[in-house]
Amino acid sequence: MLDLTPKEVMERKALRINPCKTCQPVGALYAALGVRNCMPHSHGSQGCCSYHRSVLSRHFKEPAIAASSSFTEGASVFGGRSNIVTSARNIFDIYNPDIIAVHTTCLSETIGDDLGSYIMDMDVPEGKVVVHTNTPSYVGSHINGFFNMMMGFMNYLTRKEGTPNGKTAVFPGWVNPGDIRELKRIAALMRVPTTFFPDPSGVMDAPMTGRYEMYPEGGTTVDEIRGLGDSEHLIALGEITCIEPAELLKKKWKVDFDLLPLPVGVAYTDQYVMALRRRSMVEVPAQLEMERGQLVDLMLDSHSYTYRRKVAIFGDPDVVIGLTALVLEMGMLPKYVITGTPKEDFARKVRALFELYGVEDCVAKANADLFELHQWIKNEPVDLLIGSSYGKQIARAEDIPFIRAGFPVLDRYGGPLLPIVGYSGSIHLVERITHTLMDRIDRDCADEDLEVVM
Ligand code: SF4
Repeated sequence: MLDLTPKEVMERKALRINPCKTCQPVGALYAALGVRNCMPHSHGSQGCCSYHRSVLSRHFKEPAIAASSSFTEGASVFGGRSNIVTSARNIFDIYNPDIIAVHTTCLSETIGDDLGSYIMDMDVPEGKVVVHTNTPSYVGSHINGFFNMMMGFMNYLTRKEGTPNGKTAVFPGWVNPGDIRELKRIAALMRVPTTFFPDPSGVMDAPMTGRYEMYPEGGTTVDEIRGLGDSEHLIALGEITCIEPAELLKKKWKVDFDLLPLPVGVAYTDQYVMALRRRSMVEVPAQLEMERGQLVDLMLDSHSYTYRRKVAIFGDPDVVIGLTALVLEMGMLPKYVITGTPKEDFARKVRALFELYGVEDCVAKANADLFELHQWIKNEPVDLLIGSSYGKQIARAEDIPFIRAGFPVLDRYGGPLLPIVGYSGSIHLVERITHTLMDRIDRDCADEDLEVVM
């Protein structure tokens, strides 16, 4: 299992081995699943759509619905206009969504299909909508696809009536439904009326009722997306994922925004809470103060097991930046920090964290892959690896304790329900990190050192 990964690191420009990302339509599909009564639609071959659905279903353990333009040889040569027109008619007739959200694939991008003009010519039923975005997978990653789909919805739907709707829009970025529930709970405690967009909670964490619902009760409604232009303010969480959608809302409808890191750990959650406080002008409630104090207390209690322990973190940029901030607060050394998404801002932000905490000899890299991370670890090992399921082979090859976090986690259950954001989500993370390190001590120590009280 990865035993042949060589130690010698060679400069590679055009080749990714064991990538730390997936393709744009996966992100577009996830964003569309965060809209109420929406049928995501993949404009390309059935194989692409099956892959995108399967990776989301395997992470969330929920059905990820989507339709496909079902390209065959003819559409690949002559274009997919008739495919998408027929698809839309069938989807509205059979599945009756409020909205169809179309994203492209490598194939339809390469042949240059003009989705905008196809949609303009469609016979869309009264009260229904079709929107689209371009998601060429040979650039960017699923994170680009996610924010491109957000902007697709916004370009088609948002408007300004002129009367502020009294709500603060929140762009939560690419997080799990459990995270969105926690972000909403904090906003409710701060008494800020919000519109979360997109909002896959209630969709990708729907409860078992014994009855299949194609469109579960969650998701941002089409009317709520239309109303984003009348928001009082926007809080955009995730500086890499949400900057472009936030700038679009500002450019189109002059909605000012706070662009914040994903609230993982003490300092970043403080920033979210204070941004909400500026909207409501209420004092931070005792509940949140208590959770914050418990998190700090836990970090102090467990400090002797985490201090200066080396950790490698990989995954999506905003989740990785949040995790890096948290482990630095725990006194750990984030030795290697990578994302597969090609956004150079990522490395700059992580290096700024290194500087803030005065840590040296740590590496941050965007557009990186897991092969390179493995080579670094072979040259200088770490005490802990944090990332998606794709880290498990490295963890096994190098015998490193491993914590699954981020996307995708395909080989475990329950993760999408459990938050990593906010003070209480961070408490769960600190508990997992500390216990994973302590389990390793228990596994490796001599019999006479196996303590029951630690
Ligand atoms: S062909 Fe492109 S869109 Fe389809 S699965 Fe592969 S990378 Fe994704």
